Amino acid sequence: MNKTKSTFRIKLKTLRFRIFLALMLIGLFPGLALGAIFLASIRNRGIAQDVSGISTQAQLLNDEIISKGYLTDLKRDDVRRSLSAIGNVYSGRVMIMDTGLKIVYDTYEMYEGRTMVWENAVKALSGSTESFYDVNNHSVTVTLPIVDSASGEIMGVILITKSAELMERTLTYYHNTVIITIMAIFALVFYLALFLSRRFIMPVRKVKFGIEDMSKGIGPGVLNVPDVTETMEISRVFNHYNQQMKELSDSRQEFVSNVSHELKTPLTSMKVLSDSILSMGEDAPVEMYREFMTDIAGEIERETDIINDLLSLVRMDKKDSTLNITQININELIELIMKRLSPIAESQKVDLVLESFRPVIVELDEVKFSLAISNLIENGIKYNEEGGWVHVSINSDHRYCYIRVEDSGMGIPEEDIDHIFERFYRADKSHSREISGNGLGLAITMGAIRMHHGEIKVASTLGEGTTFDVRIPLNYIDEKEAAYD
Ligand code: ADP
Repeated sequence: MNKTKSTFRIKLKTLRFRIFLALMLIGLFPGLALGAIFLASIRNRGIAQDVSGISTQAQLLNDEIISKGYLTDLKRDDVRRSLSAIGNVYSGRVMIMDTGLKIVYDTYEMYEGRTMVWENAVKALSGSTESFYDVNNHSVTVTLPIVDSASGEIMGVILITKSAELMERTLTYYHNTVIITIMAIFALVFYLALFLSRRFIMPVRKVKFGIEDMSKGIGPGVLNVPDVTETMEISRVFNHYNQQMKELSDSRQEFVSNVSHELKTPLTSMKVLSDSILSMGEDAPVEMYREFMTDIAGEIERETDIINDLLSLVRMDKKDSTLNITQININELIELIMKRLSPIAESQKVDLVLESFRPVIVELDEVKFSLAISNLIENGIKYNEEGGWVHVSINSDHRYCYIRVEDSGMGIPEEDIDHIFERFYRADKSHSREISGNGLGLAITMGAIRMHHGEIKVASTLGEGTTFDVRIPLNYIDEKEAAYD
């Protein structure tokens, strides 16, 4: 029972049902309106014809009454016969009133002698001819003054009532005809609406089937419904979205395979190292054990680095990952980062220089932003040469803080520059192999800067050096809050 109800409700909500309903209304309304207007005009015409017929007769009666002086002799049999003969002509009733509205003649003799103050009779006394259609008794009554044509004086009132049975019968006939016609139109419109609503809805159904096929992997793999402009647009937008999803899925797959590969490499090295030392048995000297164990510890450190970087990336990838925003003095923060990195710089014999134009306070997540900047400075040191330098400068205007990390290092080949922010991407493979790294640092930097609604740009000349320009808003823009404002 409930199921039937809900199916019915679903049907009511379908576009096809709505189109069907609209077509039915458009198709039926004019028919119904025309039918009603047609019937009303037939009735009015019938009444008008009856009134005009009676009026002509009444005029004749008026002339006869005046010319023969019936008004003074209404008791005479021949006069009564003559009047009732006129009444019989159109199977009606004739009543004559004097100027005091007393009924002096009635075909049915019922009201004779009574005084009746009918509205139309009063109007007739002032010279107007009135008609009245009695809907219940199906009769037309015409009331008109008896006028002496010689003097123009009103001598009384004639009331002629005529049965409209014939007209009503004609009307019933037309009524039935109209109902049958409307029913025929209804059937026609019903089937037409059923057919057209199905046709109109067809492109939408094609879109649905197309998407279903695509989800099952059937067909050409693109949505193509060029039937109407709307489905053409939907196909275009859907295919674009689908392409984006495919690219996302591909990049995810690539990421997973890269992660697996990167995680496997240190493990393979550890396995080789431990297998070879085990194969030596008890003859292996202690120094060799120490050397192998040092290598294994190095591989474990590498593995830990990769996992830590991956965790940072995943945290930044999450849409709803929260930032711990506080007011930070950027100059102090970068000074601290450079202090931490100075041992590496010293070991590589690279100069670290900080140039600060003014103290800058920025609203940011200290941990994530530190990671972003330290990756840039660390790269500047790593991909450098002995005697080289890394120059960091801080500046600001009323909206943004600008940080530039410039180095005198090896630079990035042109063909690699567009890819360096991709996960696991390492430019210039020959150099990269000598320099440790996993290709995740710049991806993390990009993620962190984006979380702060900032931008990063890179410019590099091979053999001369690389410059990274970072720009972040001084005041953090919380999009979630902005969305609720
Ligand atoms: P990695 O762990 O390899 O340093 P990153 O994501 O930090 O990974 O950098 C990606 C690649 O971009 C590096 O492998 C390197 O080839 C290139 N790169 C990044 N920074 C610099 C730089 N300052 N100078 C030259 N090449 C750089």
